[in-house]
Amino acid sequence: MKSEFPLLAAQPGLHYLDSAATAQIHRGALDAVLRHETGSRANVMRGTYALAEAADQAYESARTSAARFLNAAADEIVFTSGATAALNLVAHAFGAGLQAGDRVLVSQAEHHSNFVPWLMLRERQGIALDILPLRPDGQLDLDRLPELLHDQTRLVALTHCSNVTGAVTDVAAVVDAARRVGAKVLLDGAQAVQHGPQDVRVMGIDFYAFSGHKCFAPGGVGVLWARRELLRDLPPFHGGGGMVGEVGPGGFSWAEAPRRFEAGTPPIAQAVGLAAALDWMMGLDWPRLRMREAELCARLLDGLHDIRGLRVLGSMRADRRAPIVSFEMAGLHPHDICQVLDARGLALRGGHHCAQPLLAALGVEACTRASLALYNDAADVAALLDGLRHAAKVLR
Ligand code: PLP
Repeated sequence: MKSEFPLLAAQPGLHYLDSAATAQIHRGALDAVLRHETGSRANVMRGTYALAEAADQAYESARTSAARFLNAAADEIVFTSGATAALNLVAHAFGAGLQAGDRVLVSQAEHHSNFVPWLMLRERQGIALDILPLRPDGQLDLDRLPELLHDQTRLVALTHCSNVTGAVTDVAAVVDAARRVGAKVLLDGAQAVQHGPQDVRVMGIDFYAFSGHKCFAPGGVGVLWARRELLRDLPPFHGGGGMVGEVGPGGFSWAEAPRRFEAGTPPIAQAVGLAAALDWMMGLDWPRLRMREAELCARLLDGLHDIRGLRVLGSMRADRRAPIVSFEMAGLHPHDICQVLDARGLALRGGHHCAQPLLAALGVEACTRASLALYNDAADVAALLDGLRHAAKVLR
């Protein structure tokens, strides 16, 4: 599998364990970008010549691939610059319809990208923010949902999978509880998409956001999916070319969705690369791959368990989490740990992982995170465990 990822193929000594931050790009995605840039590069929507039509076609066909990946319709897909932009779009466009007295529920497990936009909305519009706590095992405490959901709750905005503990949200339980009070449900899918295609219809949600660079595609592109009937009535967030019908000194009319939300020149080549990555992913045997990821994760958790003074954040059960494992080592700073590991060709991240509310809830300031993707193997895990034993020796 590593041979399909140009960077990993070129650096055989590298143990890349930071895919939760950015996954390596698949060769097919890179090839598709190159093919587009050298064969059909032109702006979209504005040209009538053959090349511009080819660019239009490539871009719209990317929308269709993203829709298939989520089991959605193409006109429900908005291309953004990433998950953060998609989440901000919802906070502005859906948020514009909220007012003081309305409530949004988020959780302690959120990445700042699905937390700060709601804090900002609270400042802008005086909404109330309810915060679902975590259980000690890192799972969302869904038992607290009934008391935290109100008739005024308009949106439940939760992570699909934590970027720190790997805990996967029980979406059915969330949707069931949210529907009881008539609230919409948004999932931040940034960490889920790397582990296989998703089905927004089966999940029964209203909004889904993710980034391309976390699912083997180029950076600079992401997706917001929203139910067609919701998207149809939302106001635009950014103004500019492409998102309007008529424009004059007196005002402007909105273009139809999804173009209403794609002001300016969109990330065309990046969307083409994203489509290639998603098409490739849709052809993989995910039950087998997920089992393999879970086996590797179990192997990692077992090994970490045996390292003195090391505490894993969240569940020790590999079947309860995506293969994202964060831990602290008594007396050692994550940055020092990462530096020692780097010298051995191990790429890991240490810090607060843009999830300060989650770290505070688990009583840590910073932690080291290893995240596995479909290209990782037993040698990567063994090198990490060796490296951590070495770090404990040289740093203590
Ligand atoms: N949500 C989660 C759970 C994440 O892990 C991340 C990135 O790490 C984001 C949102 C933001 O993604 P991006 O920086 O690609 O916009």
